[in-house]
Amino acid sequence: MGCLVLMWLLVFCGGPTPASDKWEEARMRMVREQLQGRDITDPLVLAAMSSVPRHLFVPDYLASRAYGDHPLPIGSGQTISQPYIVALMTQWAEVKPGDKVLEVGTGSGYQAAVLAEITPKVFSIEILPELARTAKKRLEKLGYGQVQVHTGDGHLGWPAEAPFDVILVTAATSQTPPALVEQLAAGGRLVVPLGPPGQVQELTRFRKIEGKLKEELRLPVMFVPLVRP
Ligand code: SAH
Repeated sequence: MGCLVLMWLLVFCGGPTPASDKWEEARMRMVREQLQGRDITDPLVLAAMSSVPRHLFVPDYLASRAYGDHPLPIGSGQTISQPYIVALMTQWAEVKPGDKVLEVGTGSGYQAAVLAEITPKVFSIEILPELARTAKKRLEKLGYGQVQVHTGDGHLGWPAEAPFDVILVTAATSQTPPALVEQLAAGGRLVVPLGPPGQVQELTRFRKIEGKLKEELRLPVMFVPLVRP
């Protein structure tokens, strides 16, 4: 009997914190301190970042650092962006439910999952077959199976699915690839880190107005390079 009471106390009165709560706590702290504590105010972005289990998008040995205020390596010399940068790009893109979104640089699939929390129409291109395969499997397993992942060169965009309301480029390039400009819908938003690889770049938001890109916002950032095949 004493034993039963003890078990009950442990289960209902605070035995060891279940793992899921531990991750959720870390995620909520990330949203509060790193996103709301800065300038992330879009409720759709905050809800998406509160939902996606970022610790499952990094290598196991880095899971405990997944909610930290920094990028992390994901293998093949690539990185998952800092949570704030993912949130900022999504907020700048003004993604709304039903928008058709193209991401260039799938990487871990994390940014794609954040987008998929907001709209069911997410298309993502990754040049490295191994990363594309892993991200696709991970997205399916976590309930983001609607995200379409294509292995190929993002410079070319995804012409069969164009036009896109939003295009996010998550690797640095000195010039916006012309195919992406073409595949952006009228009124569409393009967010891209512009500048030389290995140096500080400018995360830039453009809006397509009367067929031309109008620059609207800029922030210094560091991304891995958008490479040619
Ligand atoms: N958005 C990712 C992180 C991107 S890191 C995430 O949420 O985890 C940049 C990614 O762009 C890398 O995976 C890299 O392999 C990919 N990449 C680089 N050049 C590319 C190209 N030309 N086309 C498509 N993907 C490219």
